[in-house]
Amino acid sequence: MTAWDFTAELQALEDQQLTRVRRVVEQVDGPHVVIDGKPLLAFCSNDYLGLAQHPGLIETARQAAERWGVGSGASPLVSGYSTAHEALEQELARFVGLPRALYFYAGYSTNAGVVPALVGRGDAVFSDALNHACLIDGARLSRAEIHAYAHGDVLALERLLAASTARRKLVITDAVFSMDGAIAPLPEILALCERFDALLMIDDAHGFGVLGPQGRGTAAHFGITSPRLLYMATLGKAAGVHGAFVAGQAQLVEWVLQRARSYIFATAAPALEAETLRTALQVIARDDWRRGQLQSLIAQLREGLAGLPWPLLASATPVQPLIVGDNQAALDLMAALRERGLWVPAIRPPTVPQGTARLRISLSAAHAAADVQRLVDALRELAQTR
Ligand SMILES: *Cc1c(COP(=O)(O)O)cnc(C)c1O
Repeated sequence: MTAWDFTAELQALEDQQLTRVRRVVEQVDGPHVVIDGKPLLAFCSNDYLGLAQHPGLIETARQAAERWGVGSGASPLVSGYSTAHEALEQELARFVGLPRALYFYAGYSTNAGVVPALVGRGDAVFSDALNHACLIDGARLSRAEIHAYAHGDVLALERLLAASTARRKLVITDAVFSMDGAIAPLPEILALCERFDALLMIDDAHGFGVLGPQGRGTAAHFGITSPRLLYMATLGKAAGVHGAFVAGQAQLVEWVLQRARSYIFATAAPALEAETLRTALQVIARDDWRRGQLQSLIAQLREGLAGLPWPLLASATPVQPLIVGDNQAALDLMAALRERGLWVPAIRPPTVPQGTARLRISLSAAHAAADVQRLVDALRELAQTR
């Protein structure tokens, strides 16, 4: 079994402080969790609007489980597609203002399936250097030529597009970068796509529900729309449930349905999730106060952490990264916060570039101003004793 002994590989991870461990959550009440019997105030979750435990969503899920059961039983292309799935797709398309939507069971598999459905050998993918792993994996699976451009560098993208002779050109980018909180310059990127006959696919996992009027996402935030836009977002973050979708021109979405292997060869999301998401969409559109609360917490945090030895990246979204640099230093800071009852995840390479290990503070409308104050006070105190 020597070929299958991973002692050295696991030890190498350990030596670089790159071993990952899962914490076992015993109880959860919004940002208040219990781990190892100890209460912690968490700044980890992507439940930005605080909907994961919304009573209305829970009630919908309960009723939907009674009506549909808990499993969908098959791929959507066999018998896993119900009136709940169909209604959700129509509502998602309307919500983001595009002709048609396709509801997937998860975001990772959406990107891993959609990119290879759109491009293949002889085509080209243009990918922001900080894109989420699943966009990168989708690009690799497609066998198209991959051109990574420096993060947010529209001029570099323009040069690459101008030089390309590929038949089909697909630009892929996170709309809000998951580990930075920065918003991609979508209007400029879309203008390039118009000029070079490219398609723009955006991953709005962190903008959907949070940005734009009524939380309609980052494209709505910029007021852009185009037949060249393929919009993708996940439904396990601000929407509080689980799953993902793509939306765009009807024919484009039909092609994805015909070709995305992760859609065709996988069991559909349970109808109860689709029904719960329909309720979530109503709450997202209606509850402007949740986005207002988030904005006020973001401002409070940024003001409170100004001038600390660890720089906070420029971010107007609930993802607020505090750059520590060294892997062990980031882990130590995380541990020191934990001793004070605060849970903020340290993010290390390869999730982020080498030398930029960070605490990824994520805020939620479920946090109170007093919660953010606790975090600010703890970090200021730790900065002094450093
Ligand atoms: C979380 C995330 C995904 C994956 O979505 P899941 O539904 O969790 O599989 C995809 N893209 C980005 C940018 C994400 O942050």
